[in-house]
Parts: sequence; structure tokens; C-alpha cells
Amino acid sequence: MAPRLGYQFTCSICHGAFKDVWDNNAQPINDGRCCELCCMTIVNPTRISAAIKRDAEVAARLKKEAAERKRTKALVRIEMLKAKQSGELQRMPLTGKAALDYIKQGKRK
Ligand SMILES: [Zn+2]
Repeated sequence: MAPRLGYQFTCSICHGAFKDVWDNNAQPINDGRCCELCCMTIVNPTRISAAIKRDAEVAARLKKEAAERKRTKALVRIEMLKAKQSGELQRMPLTGKAALDYIKQGKRK
């Protein structure tokens, strides 16, 4: 809310009566409004630890996905090596610079 001189409210956390210029959103503690002290000492730390927890979950998921991709790549490479050994696949597929050169020149080195 916009700052307003002499604004009176009751804090939904400490239930104190305040006369201030504004109140604060008390979420996620409750759906009401709260005083500056409760905001600084209870609401903000709760929000920060929730954000840290969320980020840790995202980091763990990304790490798991990266490990899965690495594992899949390795399995594909193993299958291709087996195919090459058995003669099903004559040559390993080109990767990186070799693939770019092939596209540009239209032939393998
Ligand atoms: Zn309070």
C-alpha cells in the first residue's frame, strides 16, 4: 500500500497496534498485514529460507537431469561402438569439427 502518515493497523503476527506510514504483507506466515519488526524478523527470513530451499530443489533436479543425459550419451556411444565392431555400422558418426568439415566439404577426411 502507499505510505500514509498516521496509518493505524493491528499486526496479524504479534497482534500489536501500530501507527506507522505503512504495513507489510505477512505472507507466507498468514494472509494479513504485519508490522515492520515482524516483517524483518519473521516474514523476510521465512521467505528467504523458502527461496533457498526452492533453489536447492532446482539445482538437485538439474544435476539429476545432467547425469541422466551423460548416462544416455554413454549408452548410445557404447551401442554405436558395438554396431561398428559387428560391422552394422561402417564408421562412427562424425561429431564436432569433423562434422562441420564434412558439411562444408561434403566428404570425410
Ligand atoms: Zn508484528
